[in-house]
Amino acid sequence: MKPGKLILPLLLTLLLVVSFSSAATSSKLVITHVTVIDATGRLPLPDQTVLIDGGRIAAIGASASITVPKEARTIDASGKFIVPGFWDMHVHIAGLNADPSWSKQVLLPLLLANGITGVRDMGGDLDALLSWQRDVESGAAPGPHIVAAGPFLASSGKRTPEQYPVANADEARAAVDELKKRGANFIKIISMPSRDAFFALADECKKQNIRFAGHLPFEIGAAEASDVGMHSIEHFLYSAFALSFSGKEAELRPRLMQAEKSSDTTAWEQIAHEADATYNAEKAAAVIQTLKKNGTWVTPTLASLDITSHPENWKTDDPLLSFVPPAMAKEWRDSFDDPQMKRHAAWLGRQASNDWKLTAELHRAGVPLLVGSDSLDPFVFPGDSFHHELSELVRAGFTPMEALQSATRGAAQFLGREKELGTVETGHVADLVLLSANPVENIANTRKVWAVVRKGAFYDRAALDSLLEQAKKEAANVREEKEKQ
Ligand SMILES: [Zn+2]
Repeated sequence: MKPGKLILPLLLTLLLVVSFSSAATSSKLVITHVTVIDATGRLPLPDQTVLIDGGRIAAIGASASITVPKEARTIDASGKFIVPGFWDMHVHIAGLNADPSWSKQVLLPLLLANGITGVRDMGGDLDALLSWQRDVESGAAPGPHIVAAGPFLASSGKRTPEQYPVANADEARAAVDELKKRGANFIKIISMPSRDAFFALADECKKQNIRFAGHLPFEIGAAEASDVGMHSIEHFLYSAFALSFSGKEAELRPRLMQAEKSSDTTAWEQIAHEADATYNAEKAAAVIQTLKKNGTWVTPTLASLDITSHPENWKTDDPLLSFVPPAMAKEWRDSFDDPQMKRHAAWLGRQASNDWKLTAELHRAGVPLLVGSDSLDPFVFPGDSFHHELSELVRAGFTPMEALQSATRGAAQFLGREKELGTVETGHVADLVLLSANPVENIANTRKVWAVVRKGAFYDRAALDSLLEQAKKEAANVREEKEKQ
């Protein structure tokens, strides 16, 4: 073997390490002549200069009025728009379809290149997520900030890295205790074995000072979950949210629990329709007041529902399939002809419209909503599905500015970190996205990512594209690994 073959990759690695770490630590960065959309609610401010020092925003002001330090790296952003970094508040990046053996190298860069500088992981391998969190925070890996639950608690199923079954109230308490000790940032639930177990879990979370979020168990209404501190409710349909607004809730809820026990989706559908038909405005208003009073958030995850219920829109040659391992991409393509998948999609399609209605109603009433993509279900691609979710929220009645604020300032408020994240303000962490078109005019423009700043590290379009190329290579390699075995 020629020695050059060895030396070249080594040199490249060294170069990469040097350039990456200098990006992460370069202290002064100045972005000039940019339109600032700060997400505080203020109108866009044209021709501004943003000075970044040590990973924080040090100053913002009219370009004519700010003195640019000589040693700073200067980026002329004329014609560009700067917004806070996006937060996708419902992802699965280290569990379910995302296997941590490959997903770190593929999904973290993919998210970052889409302008996503923070994620809330709603069920995955806790040890993997916490180690990635450390790598991202230290600058050792490019990617978004991670807030992680670890495994979600469920009333049945096998114990896996992403799933933690509990059979009763004592086990629910023990799970909270264990996950908190292991470093979970919050507790996620998808179902509970009983009402007792749910209230025990809520009580334990309160005692241990840790938040919980997730699906409403079918035994539990939205208001009572809110009253015991559930921090966010995920999805409408999967949480049977409409039942909480129904005048026939007392009759429908036991029927739904029975349908769940016997996996009777026909009965579930019938109950869902009856719940919609018996919508009670007075009851809905009372539940909404409770959610607002308690500070309970809701994550509609409309894009995921839109994608899953419309397989006819799936493109088997979708270029984004190159970001999932080939074996999984093949499975997704093949599922296109699966009659069971089609039945499920049709079922979802019949239920789905109510989720847009509920999103609109809660938003109008002032219940805070989170932007969550629920990636990585089939064809729900990380990054892309986040931007899709913003468009769906606009379709449900948000203004583009409101959708943008939900994904930035809203996420920061939810996390209790609005003093340092979520808006473009002096003193805040420099997590920023530069767009080449105005997102307030058209929400689809959030996709036009020109550059990303994460904790002060600047990624121009070329740097983001090389992250994407690397991610694709990593995804393609997963097949080779499998074939070798
Ligand atoms: Zn989910």
